[in-house]
Amino acid sequence: MTQIYTAAHLGDKPVIIDINGLNKWYDQFHVLKDISLQVRQGERVVVCGPSGSGKSTLIRTINRLEEHQEGTIEVNGTILNNDVKHIEQIRREVGMVFQQFNLFPHMTILDNVISGPVHVRNMARKDAIDIAYTYLKRVGIAEQANKFPGQLSGGQQQRVAIARALAMQPEVMLFDEPTSALDPEMIKEVLDVMRELAEQGMTMICVTHEMGFAREVADTMVFMDRGQIVEYAPVKEFFAAPKEERSRMFLEQIL
Ligand code: ADP
Ligand code: MG
Repeated sequence: MTQIYTAAHLGDKPVIIDINGLNKWYDQFHVLKDISLQVRQGERVVVCGPSGSGKSTLIRTINRLEEHQEGTIEVNGTILNNDVKHIEQIRREVGMVFQQFNLFPHMTILDNVISGPVHVRNMARKDAIDIAYTYLKRVGIAEQANKFPGQLSGGQQQRVAIARALAMQPEVMLFDEPTSALDPEMIKEVLDVMRELAEQGMTMICVTHEMGFAREVADTMVFMDRGQIVEYAPVKEFFAAPKEERSRMFLEQIL
């Protein structure tokens, strides 16, 4: 039996992401090994670990940017399988923010943010624009709405990417090293937006090496190495005294 990692201190909150016995291979390469992890409503999970440990693969698997071979993934009651309806349903509920922003370069900021609501949710353009401005204001970019991504700084583009994900009104947000491609002076403005989201109760999985942010915002720390969850702990315990040698060494290197 593999252990199912779940936040005991949030035990009365419904499970939003339920990963059970997950295994994934890239051809012969076993990239995710026996991952069983639950994320509860409102929980903030920070995933850390060395480069190549499978962090991106894990969160990309949750909304089917990558396919898995064994185990089950359930998001807000929908089983992730090959049924396109299920995949679409899950993608509606899971917002994703990448290291490289991934905005559409030929579209204005506003068009980037309304594209999901209009094309995926079939929302009227007028309503989508209202929603877009709500979230662009929230990330402090509303006055840039008619510019193109290339005219914005990296930090601003990443805030737009967050607004674009939020415009779909997801149940969960996944962040994959959202500040790793940013100049140091822009990291804070993005982390501040994420911190606010957390305070508003958003369920989040964040892959990040920003341990100051993790300490402040996370409920739960997950440390991965070579495709496995090596350590899972409430944030205070993790930083006070990591149990595993590998997490200790990792923390020593990056703190
Ligand atoms: P992390 O995000 O922790 O740095 P990744 O999930 O990106 O790790 O990668 C985990 C491992 O899987 C690495 O060894 C990487 O080279 C490999 N990998 C990632 N994506 C692919 C792919 N599309 N095909 C083959 N191998 C991949
Ligand atoms: Mg990665």
